[in-house]
This record gives sequence, C-alpha cells and structure tokens, in this order.
Amino acid sequence: MKRAVIVICDSLRRDLITPADAPFLCELGRHSAQFTNHTSVFPSTTRASAASIATGCRPARHGLLGNTMALDEGNGLVCLSVGAPDFRDRLYRATGRTLHVPTMAERIARRGGEAIAFSNVSPGAAYFLDPDGWGWVYNPAGSFGPGRRPLPAGEGLAVGKGEAGDNAVTERFCAEVLDDRAPTLALLWLSEPDFTGHHAPLGSPEHRRAIAAADRNVRRVAETVARLDPAGEDILFVVGSDHGMETVAETIDLDKVLTEAGLKRASRSTEIVGAPNGTAAVLYFADPDGPLVAEVAKFLEGQAWAGQVFTGNRLAAIGLPAASAARIAVTMRTEDRPNPYGVSGHSAIVRDPSGEKDVTGFGQHGGLGPNEQRPFLYVSGGGFAPGLRTARSSLVDIAPSVLRHLGLAHADLDGRALPQQPPA
Ligand SMILES: [Zn+2]
Repeated sequence: MKRAVIVICDSLRRDLITPADAPFLCELGRHSAQFTNHTSVFPSTTRASAASIATGCRPARHGLLGNTMALDEGNGLVCLSVGAPDFRDRLYRATGRTLHVPTMAERIARRGGEAIAFSNVSPGAAYFLDPDGWGWVYNPAGSFGPGRRPLPAGEGLAVGKGEAGDNAVTERFCAEVLDDRAPTLALLWLSEPDFTGHHAPLGSPEHRRAIAAADRNVRRVAETVARLDPAGEDILFVVGSDHGMETVAETIDLDKVLTEAGLKRASRSTEIVGAPNGTAAVLYFADPDGPLVAEVAKFLEGQAWAGQVFTGNRLAAIGLPAASAARIAVTMRTEDRPNPYGVSGHSAIVRDPSGEKDVTGFGQHGGLGPNEQRPFLYVSGGGFAPGLRTARSSLVDIAPSVLRHLGLAHADLDGRALPQQPPA
C-alpha cells in the first residue's frame, strides 16, 4: 500500500540549514531530491501556505488569501484573523464554502484512503489542511475526526507551541500515526523555528536552538519512516518548510497612513479594509470597481516603505484572484543588509492591530522578499533519486507529487508533480 509522509518545519529558511544547527537535515538533503530553487506562495503566510500545500493550488484558486482576510458578514467588510479557531465557520457562513478546490485529504478519502494531520501552529493553519473534515486534523485548539466530529479532549493535542510541544507532537505522530494507524497521508506541521523566529532575532542562539529542535524532530520521523519502509519504495517522504523569514526593520500602520492621506474615512471604516500579512498587505474594497482602487494604488506606489504594488491582472500573476473584493496587494520594501547575527534580509511590516508588541529586529514573512520566499524541500522514497533539482519549484507542487505517488489524478492543479530524476 502506497503512503506519503509530509513534515513541515514552519519558517525554516533554506540558507539557515547548516551542519552546526541542522546536522540531520544536511544529511537527509544529501540522500534526497533537494529542490534548490523552491518558492512559497503569495502571501507567504502559514495559513495561505497550508491551503496551498493541501490543495496544490495558489490562493487565487483555493480562496484563502493570507493570515488575515476581510469578510462581509452582513455589516460591511471587516478584517479577521484566519488563525482563530472559529474563522473556518465564519468563512463558511459568510460565503457558503471553505476552500474552493479539494484538498489532498478529500481526494484520498474519495478513493477509500485516510489522511491524518498533526499541526502545532495556529488553529486556522491546521484546519485549512482539511476544512471540510474528510480526514483527521489535530491541533491544540481542538481536534476533529471525519465529518468534523470534535474529538474528546483526551484524544487531542494538549501541547503548546515551541520545542517541548513539538517534541511531544512528533513522538505521538511517530508512534500513533506512522506506526499504528498507518494512514495514506500523514502530515506533521512543527511550530519551530517559526515560533521562536517571531520572538527572537534570526540567527540568535534562541533561534538556532529552535532550528536544532526541528532538526531532531525530523530525524525522529525519518528514522520511523526508514524502519517502516527500508527500501523507500512505498512511502514518499517529503520534508520542507512553508516559507522563510526576513528581519523586521520597521512597522507601518497602514490604516493610519491611508486615513491621514484622506483615502480612508477612519481606521475602522469599511469602504477600504487592509488585511495585514506581515511583510505584505491585501486591500479589500466595498466598491471593487470604483475609482478609489486606482487612487490608493497610486498613493502606495509613492511610499518609501512599499516594495511592489499589484492591481488588476498583475494580481493574477502573483496568484491572487483578479476579480474579488481584494483589489490591491502591496509588499514591503526589502533590503539585503544583515542583522546583528549576520543573517541577511530586512523588511518593513504592516501593523496588525491584534499584535501590539514591537517586533522590530525579529523575524517575519508574508511578502515576496528573497529570504521569506526561500523555503526548503527534500523528497525521498517513491522513486525520487537523490540529487539537486535546480529548476523552480513551489509549495503547490507538493500535492501533485503526493497524488501521483498514490495513483490519484492531479492534472487539474496549479502545481506540477516534481521530477523524480535529476536533470540529465
Ligand atoms: Zn509558516
């Protein structure tokens, strides 16, 4: 029986995988197909990335446009956190659906298989791996079986983010999921090094310890996979991250800037609503075809902290819908300069009203900066020969590769199944 196992080390930047901090990943990389030009999606946030890994499609098609999204629940557009435990239900009530395309869990369940996800990040990022309950999703905020049946508290994941929680989740994942339940697809999403990277400088001793912790957890899973499938024929083993990080240079209060420029009536007014996504923002308009869109875009293009401004067909080019209420995406300007620990890359971020703390000097992501768009990807087993793959790959290529391994259809996805052999 063919199986697939996926491990995501949230936020682990490809260039921060070093022999000193991640000795096992360095070794695993040498024995895997290693994708050296692997990219995230836009916005490069965990929740949009989770949906893209789960569906093989970019946000334009799966419909989850970032870590925050503006929804009209009957009283005009309001920005909501996608990470909240109830966001999935609010999205369903407001729009009549969750993701717009099937997940791997659905495709597998329809063919009689089973998918189990253990996710130690935000509830939103966990639930959008399988928002309609085709398989099992475990998260500390609440766990669900098929049909979105809530699991009793004793069966859930009673852990916190960080090393200790990741260790406990990994141990249970190996023993219960991989060894005992042996589902068609088993996915483990670790909170490190993302959790520490948001609270400490990149490359600091704390951040490097978090990378080492993720490295040890990947080793636990890899050793279990190797024991279950010594020949590497039945289990496709995918290890990667969802995005990297840049260092926060400054924080821009987008609502305030737009209000002061006379483009928005008040910080909480609903005619234009900015959805902060770390080093980027998506702007939603109550009148998406009105003249305000072009005025705001022109204004943003003139701001020193802005990187690129996307409207119209250019939204489609970065994987966002071109004709929804979301009519502008803006990335923050990035700089190459290193932080005090020698880790390159700085970016401004957009203020998120839900996070009041000053995070200058710590890690963040969401935009198109070169370091946040630098996740890693190692694939082994299932016919993948070791060696470097230098052609561009993306998070959306994971699902088609898994589906191909399982003998399931995958031609209708944005992503393409990854090459099993190195280029000739
Ligand atoms: Zn992430």
